[in-house]
Amino acid sequence: MRVILLGPPGAGKGTQAVRIAEAYGIPHISTGDILRANVKAGTDLGVEAKRFMDAGDLVPDDVIVGMVGGRLDEDDASSGFLFDGFPRTVPQAQSLEDLLIGRETPLDVVVRMSVAKDDIVTRLTGRRTCAQCGRIFHLVFDPPTDAARCDDCQGELTQRDDDTEDVVLNRLEVYAAQTEPLEHFYWERGLLRDAEANGAPDEVFASIQGILAESAA
Ligand code: AMP
Repeated sequence: MRVILLGPPGAGKGTQAVRIAEAYGIPHISTGDILRANVKAGTDLGVEAKRFMDAGDLVPDDVIVGMVGGRLDEDDASSGFLFDGFPRTVPQAQSLEDLLIGRETPLDVVVRMSVAKDDIVTRLTGRRTCAQCGRIFHLVFDPPTDAARCDDCQGELTQRDDDTEDVVLNRLEVYAAQTEPLEHFYWERGLLRDAEANGAPDEVFASIQGILAESAA
């Protein structure tokens, strides 16, 4: 199964991606996660990417496409993949298409997750991540017992640098300008399907499972 989750930051792609990857035995490839790991490790790529990420702007296409090409060469991607946060521009989508045509492994489906802008701002600005174990909380929807500590491991809860309100608003503008055109790109190819993205995580997951079952049939 080769799948893209498409939707603005805060639509819940990451949450669903983890569940889908587990259910279907395919790797969850999040370009944002790969970039953050590089920033943390202080690699050249991480140093270059950080200034774009902190501002909520996109990292240049050539950097991203090279990174994804390398990731698809890893063994676990031979059975398929689930992209979360990639592609984010038409040139990225075009490069991915060329790459997959070359390998004779076309995409199965692009699942769109749409959420209203006000809801996104609330979702993202309240998000907190445990610096130690990575568990994600939400100050309103999934609050930790102590606002500063992880319930599981007592690690410190941190806010992503790009989850502050002004950066979130820029990320949404960037999404509308650069990523939304992908909806048309994939619609033209007959690959775009809409998930019910506004419900509880279980309901959203059920909706996505229905779409995946249909496209695998
Ligand atoms: P995410 O975790 O997907 O919201 O990504 C966090 C940040 O990483 C984005 O705001 C961008 O700066 C950068 N990023 C992640 N994926 C991409 C991509 N496919 N193209 C360009 N920049 C990206």
